[in-house]
Amino acid sequence: MAALVELRDVVKHFPVTRTLGEIVRGAHPAVHALDGVSFDVGDGDAVAIVGESGCGKTTLGRLMLKLVEPTGGAITFAGAPMAGLAGERLRDFRRQAQLIFQNPFDALNPRFTIYRAVVEPLINADIDKAEHADRVASAFRRVHLADFDRYFDRYPHQLSGGQLQRVVMARALVLGPRFLVADEPVSMLDVSVRAGILALLREVRETMGLTAVYISHDLALVRYLCERTLVMYLGRVVEDAPTEEIVRRPRHPYTRALVAAVPVPDPDQSRQPLPIRGNVPDAREPPSGCSFRDRCPHAMPRCAAETPLLRALAGSHHVACHLE
Ligand code: SF4
Repeated sequence: MAALVELRDVVKHFPVTRTLGEIVRGAHPAVHALDGVSFDVGDGDAVAIVGESGCGKTTLGRLMLKLVEPTGGAITFAGAPMAGLAGERLRDFRRQAQLIFQNPFDALNPRFTIYRAVVEPLINADIDKAEHADRVASAFRRVHLADFDRYFDRYPHQLSGGQLQRVVMARALVLGPRFLVADEPVSMLDVSVRAGILALLREVRETMGLTAVYISHDLALVRYLCERTLVMYLGRVVEDAPTEEIVRRPRHPYTRALVAAVPVPDPDQSRQPLPIRGNVPDAREPPSGCSFRDRCPHAMPRCAAETPLLRALAGSHHVACHLE
């Protein structure tokens, strides 16, 4: 499958306010959100990016949508460098690439009716007004709000969380995108409506032939949605493999800890929680060598001296660990 999105050595550092001592020393501290991330997303694929808070996964999603710019490296979309997108080519990219927000309660303007919220992308993209009503109705049908005209004059506060997330999805789909990034799409929703939204995400992707990146801390969720999973730790990809491989045969010690923390209702699998001590290190001063070494039960002297590179094991399984 040809790649729709390609990332090469992508770096994103966010400058932070300097202390007096740092000013005197001439230091320029920065949060290392991403440190050399490279991977492709195949056209039509569903790829998950998982990791704890602060691993860089949300920044990565925003870079792929050109909502923030990288500090270094290159990203291409459909073969075109995203750094060079401007004018009509940037508007065309914005039509093709959409974000589904984590929190549907924050994603919609509380002063706009639901119709206005969903028609707005069409207005911004200069779509002929004569097409608006049909396109909005079609987007509502896709998200199974069949009695859609019942919602048009309502305001966000008059809808439930599940209904709102369907409206957010309708808004993301109304332009007929090719690429979706969904950032923790069900984490703010009541447990009772999550399954319905996950089934809808999968259905929409399959029926529209979309390429999708799902950002989540929840391996059980991505197992349902994605064929491939990338595990991130402190701004780097530490494992990249088919999702079933990640869940059944995780190779990186951090991935093993993540998998052990997921309750898997499978009587053939017996897993003991692995020890994982401490917290994610300060991203302003990442450790030398392997950034997981302070928490890794297998750390050895080489881990402090040498950063492990992502390398291929059997099949399409890649891992960044000196043990492999
Ligand atoms: Fe642990 Fe070393 Fe592998 Fe890092 S490189 S995960 S510290 S064994």
